[in-house]
Amino acid sequence: MSFAPATRPELLASLSEAVRVGLPSTIADLSRLVRIPSVSWSAFDPEAVERSAAAVAALADGLGVFDSVQVSRAPQGDSEEMGQPAVLATRAARGGKPTIMLYAHHDVQPPGDDADWDSPPFEPTVRGDRLYGRGSADDKAGVMAHIGAIRALVEEVGTDFDLGLVLFIEGEEEFGSRSFSNFLQQHEAELAADVIVVADSDNWDTATPALTVGLRGNVTFRLTVSTLAHASHSGMFGGAAPDAMMAMVTLLSSLYADDGSVAVAGLTGGEAADLPYDDARFRDEAGLLDGVTPVGSGSILSRLWSKPAITITGIDAPSVANASNTLLPSVSVRISVRVAPGQTAAAAYAAIEAHLRALAPFGAHLEISDVDQGNPFSVDTSGWAVAEAKQSMTDAWGTAAVETGIGGSIPFISDLVEKFPAAQILVTGVEDPDTRAHSPNESLHLGVFHRAVLTEAVLLARLNERSA
Ligand SMILES: [Zn+2]
Repeated sequence: MSFAPATRPELLASLSEAVRVGLPSTIADLSRLVRIPSVSWSAFDPEAVERSAAAVAALADGLGVFDSVQVSRAPQGDSEEMGQPAVLATRAARGGKPTIMLYAHHDVQPPGDDADWDSPPFEPTVRGDRLYGRGSADDKAGVMAHIGAIRALVEEVGTDFDLGLVLFIEGEEEFGSRSFSNFLQQHEAELAADVIVVADSDNWDTATPALTVGLRGNVTFRLTVSTLAHASHSGMFGGAAPDAMMAMVTLLSSLYADDGSVAVAGLTGGEAADLPYDDARFRDEAGLLDGVTPVGSGSILSRLWSKPAITITGIDAPSVANASNTLLPSVSVRISVRVAPGQTAAAAYAAIEAHLRALAPFGAHLEISDVDQGNPFSVDTSGWAVAEAKQSMTDAWGTAAVETGIGGSIPFISDLVEKFPAAQILVTGVEDPDTRAHSPNESLHLGVFHRAVLTEAVLLARLNERSA
């Protein structure tokens, strides 16, 4: 475990002042970004994503610290189709100082139904201590945390500093980062860094900063169960002919033990860090109805962060309105598996596929298709960058940072690790438990944002004073 000394009090004081003075204009710039409906999904107008890339590039340019600022795209996977525009700005390190890459994404999730929002999704609105709007947190606040931190660094040391900087603001994170690995390939030399900050995660609460050190991976696929050559009358053949729904629900229930934990041999997990997270907070945050009990075993945080989970996320079967007395010949579901850190997505997929094939009841035929895999990730917390980041958080927030996991996945992180194995990765963020990223009434806590900008300013100033 590396040790990092506390930030010099006079440095912390002057950075705090620079961030405080700059905050209104940083929030104004954030609000301008939120007004651009940069939904990266293919069904939405790509012009808005182009506009938001241009706006971010202009902000990067305005800092006056980069050797080069460009908007660039790469092809999606093996196809000819280009991905959404990303912003890439670089500044070479000098004098043996490290290079730090600052990642965030400027695209957003679709807003959903406007009626579910208390204020329009693309009209940034402050209520209480929160800024509401799609992308106000995820992840335009991540973009502005980087910009605001660099502004504070410039206030402190001017534009002629030695720290190397790479600003990488992706444009299609919410659409699966489809061109991400090609983009890394295309810009490998420009993206190389000693430390990578991914500002797209969560804090423990509005008063406690968190460094995310574990992320579950994800495997999703379509499973079709077929038992009959054609549909037939349930009164004529029900009771002897196995229908596909019966076979499907029997098979799906075999995925779970009586306590609701995953019962698939070969899907592995571990224990999460011991943080105070009680049943009441979990019940409240997850929205459990009265009398409904949590599923699984071990601490709640272990269940959420470091054990596997299986969810059936969709089913193709006749609707209730169209239900007739028929034995269904074939039923499809979509299965989503959260893979615990420590296991590859491929190994998790192999385990669940073997389980399904071994336990298909009544000789039912199985077909598995549309398999999608993303590896889990765990941070090596022994490096100097983790120590520097945690100390920066502690100094900026006045509260010790905690190491957390995330139940969800950020699949591109494993691409980053693969491409830049020597880089130290820091997953930070501007969110808090009430942010509701991806949901109606997404919001940013402005106090958290203030502290997140200061944290990053402190980190940049500290790295500018150390050797790589
Ligand atoms: Zn995000």
